[in-house]
Amino acid sequence: MDCQTQLLIDGRFIPAQDGATFATLNPHDGSTLAEVAEAKAADVDLAVEAAGRAFPAWSRLAAAERGRLLLKLADAIEGELDALARLESLDTGHPIKDSRGLDAPRTAATFRYFGGMADKLQGSVVPVEAGFLNYVLREPVGVVGQIVPWNFPLMFTSWKMGPALAAGNTIVLKPAELTPLSTLRIGELILAVGFPPGVVNIVPGYGAQAGQHLAEHLGVHKIAFTGSTATGRRIVAASAGNLKRVQLELGGKGANIVFADADLKAAINGSAFAIFHNQGQACIAGSRLLLHEPIADEFLDGFLRLARSIRLGDPLDPATEMGPLTSAGHRDRVAAYCAIARAEGGEILAGGAAPADPALEAGYYMQPTVVRAAPRDRVCQEEVFGPFVSVTIFRDEAEALAIANGTQYGLGGGLWTADLSRAHRFAKAMQAGMVWVNSYKRVNPGSPFGGMRASGYGREMGFEAMHDYTEAKSIWVNVDARVEPWYAR
Ligand code: NAD
Repeated sequence: MDCQTQLLIDGRFIPAQDGATFATLNPHDGSTLAEVAEAKAADVDLAVEAAGRAFPAWSRLAAAERGRLLLKLADAIEGELDALARLESLDTGHPIKDSRGLDAPRTAATFRYFGGMADKLQGSVVPVEAGFLNYVLREPVGVVGQIVPWNFPLMFTSWKMGPALAAGNTIVLKPAELTPLSTLRIGELILAVGFPPGVVNIVPGYGAQAGQHLAEHLGVHKIAFTGSTATGRRIVAASAGNLKRVQLELGGKGANIVFADADLKAAINGSAFAIFHNQGQACIAGSRLLLHEPIADEFLDGFLRLARSIRLGDPLDPATEMGPLTSAGHRDRVAAYCAIARAEGGEILAGGAAPADPALEAGYYMQPTVVRAAPRDRVCQEEVFGPFVSVTIFRDEAEALAIANGTQYGLGGGLWTADLSRAHRFAKAMQAGMVWVNSYKRVNPGSPFGGMRASGYGREMGFEAMHDYTEAKSIWVNVDARVEPWYAR
């Protein structure tokens, strides 16, 4: 595989100190794509030291200059969208239609957005009592540890790096062990466009070693984590040593609600995208479909027909609509939920197994699966993270809202309705960080992204992200040269 496979530390790609490597596989056929250097604690230490050395100069650099480098990076990514998309599809199993149409351009767009943002983030002047000037600076947090999952590695690299770099932080990023390649390519481009050594360090490795060490590291001032809720809890515990700031983008169990007055054609298409895009491996996936009783049969008829017609195949084939899941272990975990659904009395309405096509036998494929289930069932409460959607029928708006808000999560959700008042009323009442109306899963670098409750805290994107990557420093100046009266002598 013609791509970078070593650790990026202090401006150079180097092997792990103990020479360790791990294989990253092609989920389409299980073949080894590359052996990648495996960072352990000692390598993470080197990376954190490099980021610490780079921080003073990087944070003092004119904001516009940091922005200029981010814009150059966006240009470099745009110059090789095809190659990046191909690498992403090979490593993750994303259909090339998605990685070329969404992931790669969105990655460039995110770096571009934060390149433009670098010199737009402003502090403020607070109208305090006479005789004093009080102003607030937004200062970078310092060395930031970033840990990303395997479901959108390319895009998440930009979501994490963009705001952190724009704000003047330096970075040690650990990609997921299943999908390190596109992040390493971004690392190569970062060096090519001229970022100073140590500003960005990339340390592929396993969560329990490299990830845990990064989260515990006393030289790291903030940890930004995207991944499962279970690991999120470990990150919080690991952060306690130096009370580093923590930002958590965790799991979800998105409710996608279709009311009787909705445009059913749009709702069917949108609901299929909500769950089956990226094989359902999305934290914001609309994995719980709630159908209003009067249209439930008609909706299901169209939805099941669509689900059964989705073209599974080689991710590199432009006609493929769904690729394999990213690992064999994860495919088995998703498949196990079909058995759980049956045991709970659920009914599998579509899918429920690997596809019969012999050409896909060696890959980690799973049919689009639709299961009728009750709101308290495990399949309606636990994040499956695959092409697996539960269907529940509701009678009225109040019941729909109770079901929608009835999980531990609070990340994304959507509703389909022609009733304007209901759209706003319901969106406001949903306990979720993001709500889509007559749409699903739209993201934009300017729009805050994140969750509440077991879906985590903090926000990526937009000004919210810049705030999460900066500290507010309040400075008081006595402009009247007045003497404090309390101890006047
Ligand atoms: P995961 O929690 O197993 O792993 C995520 C990352 O954390 C990986 O890089 C992994 O190596 C690392 N890690 C694992 N154990 C660690 C530890 N003890 N200390 C430090 N790092 C550790 O999650 P996953 O299976 O890779 O990803 C799927 C999960 O991510 C799902 O729950 C999904 O909802 C969530 N996710 C959330 C968002 C969001 O923005 N809210 C986005 C995408 C994915």
